[in-house]
Amino acid sequence: MQSRNWKRIVIKVGSALIAPNNSGCSSHYLLSIAQFIVRVRSMGIDVVLVSSGSVAAGAHLFPNDTKSNIATKKAMAAAGQTEMMSTWDKLFDFPTAQILLTHGDLRDRERYVSIKDTIFTLLDNGILPILNENDTVTTDKLKVGDNDNLSAMIASAADADVLLICSDVDGLYDKNPHTHDDAKLLSLVSNIDESIYAMAGSATSDVGTGGMKTKIQAAEKAVSHGIDTFILNGFSELPFNMLLQGKNPGTHFKPHETPMQEHLHWMTHTSSAEGEVVVGDSFDSPLDAQSKELTSEEILAVNGNFSVGDTILVRKDDGTKLAKAKSNYSSCLLSFIAGQNDKKFANALQHRTGPIISDKNIALLEEQ
Ligand code: GLU
Repeated sequence: MQSRNWKRIVIKVGSALIAPNNSGCSSHYLLSIAQFIVRVRSMGIDVVLVSSGSVAAGAHLFPNDTKSNIATKKAMAAAGQTEMMSTWDKLFDFPTAQILLTHGDLRDRERYVSIKDTIFTLLDNGILPILNENDTVTTDKLKVGDNDNLSAMIASAADADVLLICSDVDGLYDKNPHTHDDAKLLSLVSNIDESIYAMAGSATSDVGTGGMKTKIQAAEKAVSHGIDTFILNGFSELPFNMLLQGKNPGTHFKPHETPMQEHLHWMTHTSSAEGEVVVGDSFDSPLDAQSKELTSEEILAVNGNFSVGDTILVRKDDGTKLAKAKSNYSSCLLSFIAGQNDKKFANALQHRTGPIISDKNIALLEEQ
């Protein structure tokens, strides 16, 4: 493994490994993961853990309630999180630290940078950061919703070289291995496209939130940041031993050779668009979005409320998504300029205020 020159690994562990029977935490499946973490750290490689399990760990404390009640689920998360942290903490003789966050935190650039700083400071001091979504405070609008995608966002934020996503199967199969005996394991995925998503089907775990689909979404996010990503079987010791021997333990998703710049990756994969600018056909190719300056005349509509510095979506009238970008204008000022009949006045105003979007702050979108 040292031969691969990895410096930082993010490991995502799901609820089914931590609280397998919805009856509190068990260290049964965590032992081999913990041993792997200890070995890797002793080689001088940083480890960041993204651990699910708060809801599953807390469920047994609410015998008369079900997870379908949102308030109860949040209470389960609050109670289960401490049990989950203490289970991990007991497995290590070095300190661990808890970071609970929401998508609302990650998509705010200032808070995102603050989270990065905290992770790096913990690592510099030999402390193992353990992250989870803060399920107690999240709302639909503010949550990532699954820890597979969260782990990819964290891997990017932590500048990791590797993302290991633990699953209950050996990796990505061309068919559901639980129902098809002839399902074949894919050892290498070089390009994540629709055919790869089709293999994931809609398989989900009984205990956690994610399934194979969210693992592929996570891999897509991570590889575009240049991060080697593996889906492996977290229920067995073997994949971790294989990793230590420098072998592929499951499905390896090959990282892009030219990773996206950090702030463009964040804009594409982590931040949410606060509003959108609908552009006319004169601005129709995604390439234009980067090479040409957007002028007020090309704007058909400005939707949503956004401030200077917010991420916006640039799309065509027919819904085609062209790019995500940082707006140098508020929605209010942009609507005012775009709505001017006196184009000379609008152009003069825009000229004075500067480009609506700078070419350094625009990320083209592949999906249409
Ligand atoms: N944050 C959730 C929990 O700790 C898990 C989300 C997931 O399963 O991906 O229970």
